[in-house]
Amino acid sequence: MTTTNGAPPDAADLRKRVADLVAAHDPATTEQTEFLAARFDAGLAWVHFPPGAGGLGAPRALQTVVDAEFERLGSVPTHRDGLSIGLGMAAPTIVAFGTEQQRRRFLKPLYTGEEVWCQLFSEPGAGSDLAAVGTRAVRDGDSWVVDGQKVWTSMAHRARWAILLARTDPDVPKHRGLTYFVCDMTAPGVDVRPLRQLTGEAEFNEVYLDGVRLPDSLRLGEVGAGWKVAQTTLMNERVSIGGRPEPREGGLVGVVSELWRTRPELRTRGLHEELLKLWVAAEAARLTKERLRQQMAVGQPGPEGSAAKLSFAELNQRISGLELELLGTEGLAYDDWTFRRPEGQDPLRRGAGFHYLRTRGNSIEGGTSEILRTIIAERVLGLPAEPRVDKNVAWKDLPR
Ligand SMILES: Cc1cc2nc3c(=O)[nH]c(=O)nc-3n(C[C@H](O)[C@H](O)[C@H](O)COP(=O)(O)OP(=O)(O)OC[C@H]3O[C@@H](n4cnc5c(N)ncnc54)[C@H](O)[C@@H]3O)c2cc1C
Repeated sequence: MTTTNGAPPDAADLRKRVADLVAAHDPATTEQTEFLAARFDAGLAWVHFPPGAGGLGAPRALQTVVDAEFERLGSVPTHRDGLSIGLGMAAPTIVAFGTEQQRRRFLKPLYTGEEVWCQLFSEPGAGSDLAAVGTRAVRDGDSWVVDGQKVWTSMAHRARWAILLARTDPDVPKHRGLTYFVCDMTAPGVDVRPLRQLTGEAEFNEVYLDGVRLPDSLRLGEVGAGWKVAQTTLMNERVSIGGRPEPREGGLVGVVSELWRTRPELRTRGLHEELLKLWVAAEAARLTKERLRQQMAVGQPGPEGSAAKLSFAELNQRISGLELELLGTEGLAYDDWTFRRPEGQDPLRRGAGFHYLRTRGNSIEGGTSEILRTIIAERVLGLPAEPRVDKNVAWKDLPR
């Protein structure tokens, strides 16, 4: 799907395509799923993805042109609750490693939000050391039989599909014996159990996999190449958690700035200083994300995404602390302690206490701050690597 001279579409072509689509599907009256499906079919979901996969093979940087044009023409927002794992992690991995058939099956309902995705990576003994996963997948004819336990699985209670990292060869070193699958969350043997968090709700779950049969057609990438596939997911995960483009005062800093403006009785000189410092830091982080986004326009996200995720987590925790300080005892009154399994993950809708507790997880989810500092040290700054004693040892012989 290129222009008549065979070149990928440019900004003017894309604006025209958006205008055509909006003319054919009035955003004010078209149902959201239908509108998103039309957008996918027109290649305007992710313009840098290939034709047929929701894209047009256009430069990634042009996505902002498309998004801005849709907004200008009154299109409904596309990012709905609970879709971040599908949109931010599963989709780029499927595009990079999936077969044509897998792209056709998964990408469209993922984009429209008809099918929610979750990520079956972490295990009780494999979080930061993700390559240590012990969930086994054993080949049986045209299928794989999966047994194991996953943990902290956000949105598993709503998910139709999951991205799954499993061990297919215990006799080779840990990074080499892994294979990456798409797991059918409705398959017999998948058991999703809620885990109540510090905030009171169960946004994530434990997932038990007991003799789950997955056809080989659900394998993503080569047998034994799961680590490489997972790297694509993880790099996209960091960018998607920490590098999402935002307007000025988007996120928690906007909530606190608004509080400052509308509640003059809460103001003190000391808190003003702190707010100014955090506002400037948030703006610097936002502009750094913007630079990262532009960098991504010319290739896949690199380890720099780790820096964006790290600063997002640290800043969010400091800003939520300031919000509590500002509100004093009022901030300590918790808004809702009901044990719920939320539909989505939008902490901004909740009160100051929730913000404070939920942001503790920001420095853990998607890679802990300690691990991200190591990645920055080794892969961005080129400092000497940490010693790796398990490099040439078969996974089955590792102490655990
Ligand atoms: C809100 C939330 C949502 C999540 N959602 C998902 C999900 O949907 N799917 C999923 O698969 N996982 C999910 N996770 C799990 C998350 O990815 C892991 O918790 C994380 O990778 C850390 O692993 P761990 O909990 O096993 O901690 P550990 O790896 O045991 O780490 C414990 C502590 O030791 C430190 N540490 C470990 N190794 C080193 C080292 N080499 N050098 C220095 N310090 C080290 C860590 O930084 C940390 O502070 C989620 C977590 C949270 C908090």
